[in-house]
Amino acid sequence: MPLSEFQLIARYFAGLSPPDAEGVVLGIGDDAAILRPPPGEDLLVSIDTLVAGVHFPPFLSPRAIGHRALAVNLSDLAAMGARPLWFTLALTLPEVDESWLGGFADGLGTLAARCGIALVGGDTTRGPLSITIQVHGAAAPGRALRRDGARVGDSLWVTGRPGLAALGLQRLQAGVADDDPACAAFLWPEPRLAFGRGLAGLASAAIDVSDGLLADAGHIAERSAVGIEIDATLLPLEGALGAIPLSEALALCLTGGDDYELCFTAPAAASAAIAGLAAAQGLSCRRIGTVVPGVGARCAGVETTGMGYQHFRESADG
Ligand SMILES: [Mg+2]
Repeated sequence: MPLSEFQLIARYFAGLSPPDAEGVVLGIGDDAAILRPPPGEDLLVSIDTLVAGVHFPPFLSPRAIGHRALAVNLSDLAAMGARPLWFTLALTLPEVDESWLGGFADGLGTLAARCGIALVGGDTTRGPLSITIQVHGAAAPGRALRRDGARVGDSLWVTGRPGLAALGLQRLQAGVADDDPACAAFLWPEPRLAFGRGLAGLASAAIDVSDGLLADAGHIAERSAVGIEIDATLLPLEGALGAIPLSEALALCLTGGDDYELCFTAPAAASAAIAGLAAAQGLSCRRIGTVVPGVGARCAGVETTGMGYQHFRESADG
């Protein structure tokens, strides 16, 4: 008997459910998965939907789409300082295209294996291309990083090169080859899981940079009921960002988004430990501002209204 469409699709994802996955009492194949959370730990849950043409540009390869769909969700666990455990996948496809499925499953599965997260369930339907992933992670009780813990006097930090992904998207749209470092930053975002876990106990608040540095720092400010002052002279405008006009680099860095770097606050006493953590992981991490009394996040001397950059991640809920 020929495989049904659903059996066919399931075959591409079989390798994403390792038999020895932690806490999986019963995986794919029944009406529901049975999962046993690590005893005494907090369970963290996050969900994101990516719609073709809305959350990612149509020219992305299936492999890059598979990577991105999981990476943006893992980035939310990273921002909470959580350890990834399990995910579920709901896939809506216009047609069953085996070459597309193979690439998508490869991009998704490579990242899943590297980050130690197991697929425990899924659903497939026919319709315009859309991918929903729900991730589950664990953290020691009360140790998860939140957005609401920033205190006046804390420092503001960011990992990596925010703005580089937005520059990469511009270059991809202009036809630049995808091995350009900026293009790679957009195509292959790396969830900062190990760094996020290391920040637990050091950072007072954290978020991942999906909507743009200024907007995401603003989410910390709002949830913590403080102001955040970014110092433009401290922003990491180096490499490809240092080679373009300063005003453009600043706009991309502050409003670009799609970076999936971590932005966080921490008391000054934690600065040396944070620098040591970053050095140990070979990750660049820069102090870029200060938590002050007030409302919202701003960057003195930089007018960001009307910068007009449009990125492919429009929602502010992740
Ligand atoms: Mg997020």
